[in-house]
Order: sequence, then structure tokens, then C-alpha cells
Amino acid sequence: MKCRVCGQPASINLRSYKTALCDSDFIAFFEKRVATTIKKYRLIAEGDVPIVAVSGGKDSLSLWHLMNKLGIPCDGIYIDLGIEGYSDKSLDKIKKVAETLKRKVYVFPIGSVFDRGIDGLAKAIRRVPCSACGMIKRYMMNRICMDKGYNVLVTGHNLDDEASALFGNILYWKKEYLWKKDIALEAKEGHLSRKVKPFFLCSEREAAAYAIMSGIDYVYEECPFSMGAKSLTYKGMLNKLEEKSPGTKLMFLKGYLRALKERTKNEIDLQEETRETKYCVNCGYPSYTEKCTFCWTLEKFGLHCNIIFDEYC
Ligand code: SF4
Ligand SMILES: [Zn+2]
Ligand SMILES: [Zn+2]
Repeated sequence: MKCRVCGQPASINLRSYKTALCDSDFIAFFEKRVATTIKKYRLIAEGDVPIVAVSGGKDSLSLWHLMNKLGIPCDGIYIDLGIEGYSDKSLDKIKKVAETLKRKVYVFPIGSVFDRGIDGLAKAIRRVPCSACGMIKRYMMNRICMDKGYNVLVTGHNLDDEASALFGNILYWKKEYLWKKDIALEAKEGHLSRKVKPFFLCSEREAAAYAIMSGIDYVYEECPFSMGAKSLTYKGMLNKLEEKSPGTKLMFLKGYLRALKERTKNEIDLQEETRETKYCVNCGYPSYTEKCTFCWTLEKFGLHCNIIFDEYC
């Protein structure tokens, strides 16, 4: 198999694009696609101050590297879940990338703030680990953005993540979530930062290949709490479809973005959340109840909402 651009031996076969490429031509191809996505969907505008949510995995570290390479300077945020043998390893990789990029990374260490890791914290607040993790990540990432002057939170959600989430929402007709998987989620001035996903149309395999070919050292292991997650089953099913018919996942998501745009005003009004967003009496950030779950959790542990996070440069 030869590289379609230079004729040298190809290192990756991209069946959905009917092409095969060598390392350097794949890197150029991938970067161009992400740059085009950012431009086409207006993910970053002039004057924006974006920050990347990093986990230590292939997607977020590739994205962080790529954004800076494209000339969009970005710092990073890491929520340290305090999982033994996993979180420390992830932080080490993140610090190395931060050093290479010469960018700052903010770290919120759940283990030292709550005196226990995500598992213990979840038990204390009677949630499953992923639910406690989602609540803390959503809150802290937004909080760091707002407090530190970043207006766009950039996340590494890829084509496989988004296609499996959409597939799950359709399978169970979760209408309340169906139209909330957009490539860009709008800000609420002064309360909620804008969120964008530049890898929305890039597969997990492409992000991993980009990381390896660019020499980015990432954590290969997945979070131990992801074992048995439904999303992994959906990803497996979609990959079987993709194998039979390359390009299916990409068409699924491109079609979704088109359908989102084509919704009529009436349909949008019907589908949009009718519940009015309130703001937490304690911290002022969005909440459906008087006090947000994060503040409620802090209080349970006798902590206050003027949280401290670590900064590494
Ligand atoms: S799998 Fe791990 S990182 Fe993902 S939501 Fe669950 S606890 Fe958080
Ligand atoms: Zn080539
Ligand atoms: Zn609050």
C-alpha cells in the first residue's frame, strides 16, 4: 500500500476517505481537516481565549498539541480524579506536554480537596463514580474558565464518542438530550463558557494515529470506571457497521449537524429545555436548584466555594 500523496509506503489506510497515507502526509491531512472544521463551524473566533480540557489520553493531548500548532494558543485544565495508578500517570504525561508547549495547566485535585478519590467521593454523595465525575468536571472546568478569563472550553470528544452518544439517545429516544450534542454549545454571558469540539468529525483511530506519529506520549489505559459502559458497546456496534460500510459514522454525524441546522424555529422551541436556568445562591454558577450540587457537595465535607486549584507552567 502506497501513500496517495508521495508514493512512499503508507502507514495508515483511511477507508472512509478511500485513501492511504504515510506519517507526514497523514499528519498534514489530519491537521488540515481539524483546521477546516474549526473554520467551517466557527469554533474559535478572533479574540477568543480558549483552554483545552485534558485527561492524559490520546484525544485531549493530540488536540492540545494540534491547537497550539495551528497558532491557536491554549492552556489546559486537568481534573485529577485521585485514581491510584491512573491519575498520577495521566498528570505526568500532561505536565510533559505542557512543558513542550510552554503552556500553563490548571489542576483540580479531587483526592486532596475531598480527602478521597472519585470512588470514595461518589459513595459519600450516593452517586455512581461517572455521575460524580461528570458533575465535578462540568462545574470545575466552567469555573476555571470563568475565574481565569478563558471564554471557550475546547474538548477532545471525537467522532466515535459523539456517534455512540447520539446512537444511545436515539435508541432510547431520550428527546431531552437528542439535540444537545452539537459541535459547539453556546455560552451564557458571565455564567457559562462556550464549549467546542474540534475532533467531532475525527475518529478515535485517527486521533491515536496522530498522537503516535507526532510523538505525543499519552496514557494508553482507559479510566477503570469506563469498564462495562454502554457507550463501549455502542462503539463496538458502530465499528461493525463501519467495517461493512466505511464512512457510516462520519455520515451519521454530518447528517446530524445538518438536521440540527435545518430545524425550524417551532421545532427548536418545542425541543428546547423549558425549565428556567437559575443560579446557585452560593457561587452564582448555573443550577436547576437553589444551591448547585457542587456547592452542596463541598458543604457536606465542610469546605467552602473559594476552591483552590494547582497551577503548573
Ligand atoms: S469513565 Fe472515568 S473519566 Fe469517564 S466519567 Fe467515568 S469516572 Fe469519569
Ligand atoms: Zn506520503
Ligand atoms: Zn454553587
